[in-house]
Amino acid sequence: MDLILFGPPGAGKGTQAKRLVDLLKIPQISTGDMMRAERQAGTEIGKQFDHYMTQGLLVPDELVLSLFGQRLSQPDAKSGAILDGYPRTVAQAEALDALLAARGRKIDRVVSMEVSLAEMIDRVVNRRTCESCGHIYHLRYNPPPSPGLCGQCGGKLVQRKDDSEEVVRKRNQEYLEKTAPILDHYTAKGVVKAVSGVGTLDDVTQRIKSAIGLA
Ligand code: ADP
Ligand code: ADP
Ligand code: ZN
Repeated sequence: MDLILFGPPGAGKGTQAKRLVDLLKIPQISTGDMMRAERQAGTEIGKQFDHYMTQGLLVPDELVLSLFGQRLSQPDAKSGAILDGYPRTVAQAEALDALLAARGRKIDRVVSMEVSLAEMIDRVVNRRTCESCGHIYHLRYNPPPSPGLCGQCGGKLVQRKDDSEEVVRKRNQEYLEKTAPILDHYTAKGVVKAVSGVGTLDDVTQRIKSAIGLA
């Protein structure tokens, strides 16, 4: 199955993608996580991402396409993937459709996770992520068992540089202008299902499972 978890910043895409990996036995592909790893490693391409990501702007398509294409070609993604944060523009969606078609695949489902702007801001500003294993926490809704430390692996929790209210507002503008139009592209193909992103993590997982015909 090839599944897109779609939604604005803070909708819960990464949290739910990680839960679905075990269930569907296919990998999560998060271009945001891949870009942060390149920045951390200080690579040439990582330095190019920096400028856009700190300002909350989308990274230009030409820098994203090859990064994503290489990841989709890895053996673990040969029978499907859970896409989180990709595609982000109609051009990326078209490139994705072509990459999948070349492999006899297509997007089976786009699950569009809906949350209000106030909820997005509260979630993003209070998000903390484990720097070792990538587990995602929220200071109030999904707090770590001991402050600052990951409950899964004991790693240190960090706040993303772009998770300020100011930058998340910019990211939401980018989302509305450039990313939301992807929904029309996939609605025309009949694969979009909208779910509420509000509720417990289990509630939302259950809605996604129904949207993909699993429950
Ligand atoms: P969130 O899950 O909160 O929406 P991401 O980790 O997906 O955040 O993305 C963080 C930033 O990384 C974006 O603001 C953008 O600068 C960059 N980015 C990630 N994926 C893409 C993509 N597919 N196309 C362009 N930019 C991207
Ligand atoms: P995205 O990948 O869409 O940007 P994340 O999965 O990183 O979103 O979640 C953003 C923040 O919201 C995190 O702090 C996460 O713990 C929290 N969160 C995720 N799902 C929920 C939910 N159903 N209710 C409350 N908070 C949530
Ligand atoms: Zn951890």
